[in-house]
Amino acid sequence: MGRSQGMLRLGMACLLLVLASRVWAQPVVEVTPDFDRLDLTPHLEILEDVEGELDFDAARRATGYAPVPAAGPNFGFSTSVWWVRFAVHNTGSEPAVLLLRQDYPLIDHLDLWLPDGRGGTRHLHTGDRKPFASRDIDLRNFVSQLVVPAGETVPVLLRYATGGSMDISLKLFAPVPLLEQVGVEQLAYGIYYGGFIALIFYNLIIFVAVRDRVFFWYLLYAVVFGLHFGVHNGFSYQFLWPNSPAWANQSLVVLLGLSLIFALQFTRGFLDAQRMLPRCDRIAQILQAMAGLIVLGSFVLPYGTVVVPIAHVTILVTALILFMGTRSLLAGYRPARYFMLAWIAMLLTVFAYMLKAFGILPNNVLTQNGFQIGSLLEMTLLSVALSARVRDLQKYSFTDPLTGLLNRRSFDQHLELEFLRGRQGGPVSLLVIDIDHFKRFNDSHGHAAGDKAIRLVARHLDRNLRPGDAVYRYGGEEFAAILPGADLDQARDVAQRLLGPVDSGGITDDPITLSIGVACSDGLPEPVAARLFELADQALYQAKTEGRHRAVAAT
Ligand code: GH3
Ligand code: MG
Ligand code: MG
Repeated sequence: MGRSQGMLRLGMACLLLVLASRVWAQPVVEVTPDFDRLDLTPHLEILEDVEGELDFDAARRATGYAPVPAAGPNFGFSTSVWWVRFAVHNTGSEPAVLLLRQDYPLIDHLDLWLPDGRGGTRHLHTGDRKPFASRDIDLRNFVSQLVVPAGETVPVLLRYATGGSMDISLKLFAPVPLLEQVGVEQLAYGIYYGGFIALIFYNLIIFVAVRDRVFFWYLLYAVVFGLHFGVHNGFSYQFLWPNSPAWANQSLVVLLGLSLIFALQFTRGFLDAQRMLPRCDRIAQILQAMAGLIVLGSFVLPYGTVVVPIAHVTILVTALILFMGTRSLLAGYRPARYFMLAWIAMLLTVFAYMLKAFGILPNNVLTQNGFQIGSLLEMTLLSVALSARVRDLQKYSFTDPLTGLLNRRSFDQHLELEFLRGRQGGPVSLLVIDIDHFKRFNDSHGHAAGDKAIRLVARHLDRNLRPGDAVYRYGGEEFAAILPGADLDQARDVAQRLLGPVDSGGITDDPITLSIGVACSDGLPEPVAARLFELADQALYQAKTEGRHRAVAAT
C-alpha cells in the first residue's frame, strides 16, 4: 500500500513535471525585487505563422518556437504572423508590476496576452491600425502593464502582424526606470524637433525677406520631412491624428513621397538646374511625377504595395541629387559644397536605415536614430547652403565677372558713401581710366585677347594703387579708382604711377597704354559725387585729345 502510494506520488510528480515542461518550455526571465530593466531579445522565442491561421489557444500549444536568430528579431517586410513568447518568474514576496515596451511604433496589429496578477490573462489588442486609445499607456510606442504574483512564473504571448517593417523590439521595465528613460528620450526628441522647428521659422523669415523661391521649397521639404519622422517615432499618431489609424499608416508613404518631390524641387532651384543641368532637370521632373503617382496610389492601394516602389524611388532620387550636386560642384558652383555635404551626411544614414528595414543590418541605436540625426544635420547644412547661395548672389551683383573687380553699381554706391561721410576723412579724389585705342587692339588680336588685356589692366591697376584705394570696372574698357583722403597732388602721383608699363602678357609687342582723368573734391563748388565724376571725365577727354597715354587733372 505504502509502496503503491509512493509509486502514484512519483507518477504524479513526473506527470506534473512533463506538463510543467510543456507549459514553461519558453525561456524564463527572473524578476527580483530590485529589477530595473531588461532587453528581452535573447529571452524570446519566436514562431512564424506563415498563413496567419493560429489563434491564441493554438499558438499557446504550438511547438516549433525557436530562439531569436543571430541577426535579431527584425524580419523586414513580412506577410507572416509572428508569435513571440517568454515567461516571467517573480522571485520576490510582493506582486511585481512590470511594463513591457515594444519600441518600434509602426506595428499594424499587436496582440498581447499578459498576466493580470490575479491568476488570469488580459488580452490587449492594439497596433497602429487601431485608434491610439487602444494602448495601455498614452506614449508614442507600445507600453503595456503586466503583474506577476509573488513567487509565480507566468507566460507572456504576443502576436505581431504588419504590412511594414516587422521589427520586434521588446524590453521589460520596472515602472520607475521606464519613467526615467522616457524622460531622457522625450528631451532628446524635443531637441530634435525643436531644431527642425527653429530651422523652419528661421528660413521662413528669410524667405519673407528675400523672396527667393528656393527658400519656399526648403520650407515645404523641412515640414513634410519633419512630419515624416514624427510618423516614424510615433509622435504624429499620438499628437496629430490619434483617431485616424488609416491615415496614420498612409501618411508615411504620403509624407515620404512629398518630401522627395520637394527635395527635388529644392535641388532644381538651388542648383539652377534648368539652365545648368537641363538633362538632369528632366530626369528630376520624371522622378517627381513618379513620386506623385505613388502618393496618389497610396489612396487606393494597400501599404505593402506602395512601400517598395517608394523605397526604390527614394534611392533613385538620392542618387540623382548626389549626381547633380557633384556636376554642379565640378562646374565650380561654390554653394554646392554645403549642399553635397548635407546630402552625404544624410545619405550614409538613409542607407543604414534601409538595410535595417530590409533586415540586413541589425536594429540598434545607430541604425534606428542615425537616420534621424542625419536628417537634422542635413536640414542644417542645407540652410547653411542657402545662406551661402544668397551671399554669392549678393556678391556677384556687386562684382564684375571678367576681372573680379567691383562693378559700376558698387562704384556708384561707394562714391556716394564717400560724400555722405562728409569732410572728416579729408578730401576724396577720383581717377577715371580708359584704355587707349582698344577698338584697334580688339580688331587686330581678337576679342578673347581683348578680354585677357582687360584682366591684365585690372590687375595692373589693383596692384599700383595705395592701400585703402579701390578700383572698379566702370564700363567696357573703362575703370575708375576712388582715393579716399588724397588731395589733387597725391592723386596725380598715383595716376602717374598707373601710367607705367602694363604687362601685356605676350599678346602684343605694342604696349597697352592708358589715359587718366583726375579730379579732387577739394575746391568743388558743391560736394556732390556726380559733379566729381563729371570733372574727372572731362579731364579724361582732355587727356585723349592731347594725345593719350597721359594723366590730366581737372582744375
Ligand atoms: P580711345 O583711345 O579713344 O579710348 O579708343 P578706343 O578704341 O579704346 O575707344 P572706344 O570706346 O571707341 O572703343 C572701346 C572698345 O572696347 C570697343 C569694344 O569693342 C571694346 N570693348 C569694350 N568692352 C570689352 C570687353 O569686355 N572685351 C573686349 N574684348 N573688348 C571690349
Ligand atoms: Mg578706350
Ligand atoms: Mg572707351
